[in-house]
Order: sequence, then C-alpha cells, then structure tokens
Amino acid sequence: MNKMSIRKDDLVVVLSGKDKGKQGKVLEVMPKDGKVIVEKVNVVSRHTKPRKQGDQGGILQKEAPIYACKVQRVCPKCNKPTRAAHKLLADGKKVRVCKKCGAEI
Ligand SMILES: [Zn+2]
Repeated sequence: MNKMSIRKDDLVVVLSGKDKGKQGKVLEVMPKDGKVIVEKVNVVSRHTKPRKQGDQGGILQKEAPIYACKVQRVCPKCNKPTRAAHKLLADGKKVRVCKKCGAEI
C-alpha cells in the first residue's frame, strides 16, 4: 500500500470519476482504508426518517470517502497539481515543498 501523502486541510484535485477536476479541501484522512474525505466531493444524499410525530425528515447531504489515489494535491501557491518534495532545512526541520514552484506547502 502506498504511504499516504495527503493530510488534512490539503487542497486536492480529483483525477477520475464523476467529480473529476473538482478541487476541495481534505476534511478527513483515513489511512487504514487509503481513503480521504474531500469537501464538496462525492457528495451523497441520505434520507433521514422522521424521528417523532410532526418531524419532517429530509435529505442530508454528506461527503463520502474516496480513494486517496484518485486525488492529487494542488499547490496553493502556483495552483497546479503537484507532488510534494521533502526539503531538509538547516535546523534539521523537514518541510514539504512544491516540486513545481518550490513554495512551502
Ligand atoms: Zn507550487
């Protein structure tokens, strides 16, 4: 299994499926399943039943998890899909940088 390179709050673009091309923020990462939940991507409608009399019930819209391999990170600086490179700073700290523009992401 691939190591998850996507973290919460990352900006990603969807590579395939019905939401192809959509961008969104990662809301949740599920490393065990290799899945992520992305804001406004793979939204499913769930019908809720009325719990008590007089309650209307309704439709709840919620993001469902998608496979992490179907999304790619987007650099917030140059706004291009990119892979993160790891850069070791002089003080020994490791940071992730955009391979395209070199910005810290
Ligand atoms: Zn960049």
